[in-house]
Amino acid sequence: MPKLLLITIPLILLLASVFNVRTTTLPVHITGHIRNNPKDTSAYIISLNIFVKGNDKVLARAITDAHGDFNLTFVPRHEKSFDFFCAGIGIDTILLASVTSFESDTPDLTLLIPADIHEDSLQQVICLKCHKADKVYKIAYGNGLPLVRTISPSGKVTYSNIVGNQYNAETCIGGIARYYCDRDKLKF
Ligand SMILES: [Zn+2]
Repeated sequence: MPKLLLITIPLILLLASVFNVRTTTLPVHITGHIRNNPKDTSAYIISLNIFVKGNDKVLARAITDAHGDFNLTFVPRHEKSFDFFCAGIGIDTILLASVTSFESDTPDLTLLIPADIHEDSLQQVICLKCHKADKVYKIAYGNGLPLVRTISPSGKVTYSNIVGNQYNAETCIGGIARYYCDRDKLKF
């Protein structure tokens, strides 16, 4: 019996260390697909810049092909989440998805542009990233929308796009993003 233990304990330790290495250093190869959201098909899905951010750093970039498909490879470390953004002609940088883990080393991801909107129990739209509603504002598009001017005691003038319960996009061209989270400073 002690002999068996002598073999099993190192084996368990070896397996644990192998598993640990696997979860921290193996690259993730993503096969991705950008698709129009049936609720808003106005986005052009070809030649979009796709990038994934973790802990505020860009981990990988790609450009969608003629079908809206792309490939991304990066090595996850200890990121709190992996945030998939896209940008393109006529499209502001917009968050498409935020995930905390991948089910395999070769996940297949289909991302809708714009992403589906989710609401909390009070029917308030929640942010794709922080999953909270309290800093989420509906984006208003249109020229000449007012900004809120704030003058600090030292005389410094700052402007905020947030007016009442709306975020003013400062462009007359209607964008794809419909909401803005002021906690994460992103549009979705
Ligand atoms: Zn947020």
